[in-house]
Amino acid sequence: MSTCLLCHNSFEEVDSWATLFSLAEPDPLCSVCSAKFEKIEGELCEICGRPFTELSSEYRKGNLCYDCVRWEKDPRWQSVLTKNRSIYLYNDFAKEVISLYKFRGDYVISSIFKTPLKKTFKTYFTSSHFVVPIPLSDERLYERGFNQAGALARLLDVPVNEILVRAHLEKQSKKGRDERISGQNVFRVIGSVQDKDILLVDDIYTTGSTLRHAGQVLLEGGAKTVSALTLMRG
Ligand SMILES: [Zn+2]
Ligand SMILES: [Zn+2]
Repeated sequence: MSTCLLCHNSFEEVDSWATLFSLAEPDPLCSVCSAKFEKIEGELCEICGRPFTELSSEYRKGNLCYDCVRWEKDPRWQSVLTKNRSIYLYNDFAKEVISLYKFRGDYVISSIFKTPLKKTFKTYFTSSHFVVPIPLSDERLYERGFNQAGALARLLDVPVNEILVRAHLEKQSKKGRDERISGQNVFRVIGSVQDKDILLVDDIYTTGSTLRHAGQVLLEGGAKTVSALTLMRG
């Protein structure tokens, strides 16, 4: 018997050959909790990884969703993000689980998400990707005590390069509004990214704005391409 990490109910493990020979991690969740996560499957927007299944056709143009069409039309953002892939839809259950991080730290993330994260990484990316977590602002780092994106990136068992930092928001807010809008980027690159295929890691893809801002400074710093792996798709 195992205890589900989320609902704490006991459940019977289905022994597969893989778990018997310790090739796969035992399932940390009962089948009820597992089923509450909505895995992203089927046809996806080529850039942001949004599933087309529940998207009305007016929000789709060829292989892209309407949001990505708009990003790509803007010369400032065109081709900044090559591809994002997310694992789950950010549904109500996912929101609850994400908020648990605050109290239970990366232990929960690593047990629940390690296997699916590594699987998605292997499906869409390669070990030649230069893995860079999205940094948390100092404020949120203080609130949470750790950086979720960094914890997720370390689950991939490949080198993690913390070469992206956030400029201090206090300084940012002192500037005039126009100055902020006219291209001040909250991110700064503090290491060499020359000719690298970057893989950004973050917890949630919402509008794609954070990833594209990070992508912009990385490309300016000499990176070849910028892609992203995110746990949830908003
Ligand atoms: Zn459960
Ligand atoms: Zn898209």
